[in-house]
Amino acid sequence: MLKQERYRHFVDYFSKNQPDAVTELHYGSPFQLLIAVILSAQCTDKRINQVTPALFERFPTAESLAASTPEEVFTYIRSVSYPNNKAKHLVGMAKILVDVFHNEVPSDIDELQKMPGVGRKTANVIASVVYDAPAIAVDTHVFRVANRIGLTTNARTPLAVEKQLVEYLPQETLAIAHHWLILHGRYICVARSPKCDICPLTWFCKYYYRTHTESYLQKVEAEKARKVKDQKKKKSLDAISKELKKRSVK
Ligand code: SF4
Repeated sequence: MLKQERYRHFVDYFSKNQPDAVTELHYGSPFQLLIAVILSAQCTDKRINQVTPALFERFPTAESLAASTPEEVFTYIRSVSYPNNKAKHLVGMAKILVDVFHNEVPSDIDELQKMPGVGRKTANVIASVVYDAPAIAVDTHVFRVANRIGLTTNARTPLAVEKQLVEYLPQETLAIAHHWLILHGRYICVARSPKCDICPLTWFCKYYYRTHTESYLQKVEAEKARKVKDQKKKKSLDAISKELKKRSVK
């Protein structure tokens, strides 16, 4: 199947079935989304949604967060991953937001990255979710799922994946495609054992095709048979050595 066709099937399926996909992070303003996305690095959205209500209540504005200390912020986010660093990032981000950007979360990817804790992925999320910019953030789910489906080829870094997705996806779908890939990766195309048996994308998924062709299945069966044989061999060797031990004791 041609790459373009695969992209067409991907966009067709999700446009019809998930036309309103959005982030699962809870937020009420661009400032709150920025906080939530910084916190979400290497952590689950569920966990972030548990800590942000109290955090947002204590720090309703960038000024209040900028006037705080990482030590105080830490007490609100201690249960997320890397709380020390993230507390420092949040206070640093708020200071720049107040001093440099006059409380306005910037829309430009480069400007966004001037704030601590904001890498390219976070900047792309803000640009696409808040400003509807044609940008796509590549996180671990997007990286994995795009590769498995075959939307990307030999893309070994998040930036390479981003470039290929930007090249092939229709511009107006870039922002929402980020959510399609994340949600699909979170609930169906999970990291360890993708749930291909319930996945609606099997008919154009490269990974599925590769892992369900006859030669692949033959390899899997051969591997299983080899393991069974090895286990039997080990069992009989164990029995022999047990018997020898018994005899030497006598
Ligand atoms: S078929 Fe399997 S590998 Fe392909 S997208 Fe679906 S779950 Fe992922």
